[in-house]
Amino acid sequence: MKRICILTLVSVLLVACATSPTGRRQLMLVSEEQAISASKTAYAQTLKPLAEEGKVDNDPALKQRVSRITERLVAQAVKMRPATAKWEWSIKVIDDPEVVNAWCMAGGKMAIYTGLIEKVHPTDDEIAQVMGHEIAHAVANHQAEKMSIAMATSVGVIAVGAASDRPGLAMSGAAAAAALAITLPNSRTAESEADRIGIELAAKAGYDPHAAVTLWEKMGKVGGKTPPQFLSTHPSPANRQQMLRQLVPQMLPYYQSKEPRPVFKL
Ligand SMILES: [Zn+2]
Repeated sequence: MKRICILTLVSVLLVACATSPTGRRQLMLVSEEQAISASKTAYAQTLKPLAEEGKVDNDPALKQRVSRITERLVAQAVKMRPATAKWEWSIKVIDDPEVVNAWCMAGGKMAIYTGLIEKVHPTDDEIAQVMGHEIAHAVANHQAEKMSIAMATSVGVIAVGAASDRPGLAMSGAAAAAALAITLPNSRTAESEADRIGIELAAKAGYDPHAAVTLWEKMGKVGGKTPPQFLSTHPSPANRQQMLRQLVPQMLPYYQSKEPRPVFKL
């Protein structure tokens, strides 16, 4: 009986594989459409209590700075993958000086925490690398991949099961998996993929590719009791900084181009 279950699971996993933009095989138990729909719910429900506490977008200058950068990045993401023009892209600045984090859910729902600004002191070019990297994860469908992993592992099943069994809990199983997925570490392969796509989106949007190297250096120097959340969900692939440094010469022509930089209004 157990064997049949394992065989069934294996065959489900085999048919559930997809291919990423860089040609990598991905585990896909959740379709991208399902991930986008679940993320929409998870985003609304994650932000609601924060908004009630007055912790969303309450620094107009910072919101404007982050929006200006992400609008240029999203324009490039849409050029790279035109289907994403239909996504309901959105960026929120969450006021939490202790949280050094940023994320982009499936379907383009983004957030950046004030802790990242206050502790890392990023330049605009470095913010573009953070958000370009996050957008790259979404464009490469890593969120659906992580939701699939969340659902296929006991941790995910327990979390999703617990969420759906308790009537008092706000999120449905799929939304809970979407919320859980942004807290799971990406694989190092997914990290390399997001590094490569992210630096390109940023360079095409007019941001200095050297900032990809300095960003990770600065992130690694953030002190305090716990390392930045961003580093735990984005584990370092081997030789990350060396790999990024090697990409810089390829990216410079995009960065130095005199072409106007389009924006995608958020
Ligand atoms: Zn990452």
